[in-house]
Amino acid sequence: REQDSREFLEAMIAPFEMELHDTAIVLNVERPFPSRPIQVDRDRMAQVFENIIENAKKYAGNSAEVTISTRDEADCIRIVIRDNGIGISEEDTPYLFERFYRGEKSRSRAFGGAGLGLAICKRIVEEHGGHIGVQSKPGSGAEFFLTLPVVKVD
Ligand code: ATP
Ligand code: MG
Repeated sequence: REQDSREFLEAMIAPFEMELHDTAIVLNVERPFPSRPIQVDRDRMAQVFENIIENAKKYAGNSAEVTISTRDEADCIRIVIRDNGIGISEEDTPYLFERFYRGEKSRSRAFGGAGLGLAICKRIVEEHGGHIGVQSKPGSGAEFFLTLPVVKVD
């Protein structure tokens, strides 16, 4: 469905602002959001936000700080979700979006999970014509980005 990216982003983030309000986890949301026409399935995209924010909470623990920012680019909007958790080692990053892949730290520690969350995110984002990726240094958190193409108006 075609919609405004600002309305879409508010709808995606509202449940987490409510859920995390008055918890130990700090959620920073950098507004204003870009306002561009995008074509998205909200239910599918909600799963992407859910999986990424669940990971941020899981891998950043009780003192988690999660920051959501956005960038208006020529052909797309970019959404960046950053946390201050254990981060991801360079050896792991190329495989993170593969099914059943779990980072070395996650395997050796007592984190539950199947290693499916990010594979699902990748599939959904790519079905929307976007990209997903990660940047991280072990110990200084992880930063996930996703892009969504802007509908061309001519
Ligand atoms: P599932 O999501 O299926 O419950 P999972 O969280 O292990 O299990 P993914 O969400 O696909 O699986 O993540 C894959 C791996 O990427 C994780 O096992 C973890 O090693 C690493 N990872 C993902 N998000 C983060 C993050 N925010 N900080 C640190 N490591 C992360
Ligand atoms: Mg996960």
